[in-house]
Amino acid sequence: MSRDQAAAFLRTLATANPKPETELLYRDPFSLLVAVVLSAQTTDAAVNKCTPSLFAAAPTPAAMAALGAEGIGPHIRRIGLWQGKARNVAALASLLVEQHGGEVPRDRAALEALPGVGRKTANVVLNVAFGENTMAVDTHIFRLGNRTGLAPGKTPRTVEDGLVKRCPPELLRDAHHWLILHGRYVCKARLPACWRCIAATHCNYRDKVVPPA
Ligand code: SF4
Repeated sequence: MSRDQAAAFLRTLATANPKPETELLYRDPFSLLVAVVLSAQTTDAAVNKCTPSLFAAAPTPAAMAALGAEGIGPHIRRIGLWQGKARNVAALASLLVEQHGGEVPRDRAALEALPGVGRKTANVVLNVAFGENTMAVDTHIFRLGNRTGLAPGKTPRTVEDGLVKRCPPELLRDAHHWLILHGRYVCKARLPACWRCIAATHCNYRDKVVPPA
């Protein structure tokens, strides 16, 4: 897909949602970081059911470190992989206290050095908490990048690089949200709803789906 076509695709999504936001509940960079770590392989809606009680019990890295994995676990038992996530959240909170003065670092390498934090999570935190023009490629964006021709690639990093290259810089920060929401609610994994897709004329997918009878 050309840069002009990619820009047209994204601008069309923008018209429907000019100020997109993450669907995760958070109140500061720390709670965002924890929510994103908890959201791995589960839905934002499931995470949002757990985090209010967790953040009430431990609103700061110091409080979360003190709560520890055993104290975190009961708050997040309804989400997948909760035991490992409880350990990671406790460990990352301790590291924030020990190495970063209890603050979430605005630095990719420092973020990716935290337990449970990979490139995608770092990109979300840099984008949402710190306003940086990053592109976090989750399962929805990976699928959409390939299916539409926006940024084909065999790995999330290839798709990320393709999107960053084709996306107009002024749209890059919000493009992350537009694409995730489009993949979550319209360009779905099993059956893309092409018949009601506002960006269909800019999409290269050959097998566009017609309305169900
Ligand atoms: S036309 Fe279909 S495949 Fe293309 S972006 Fe829209 S929903 Fe996805």
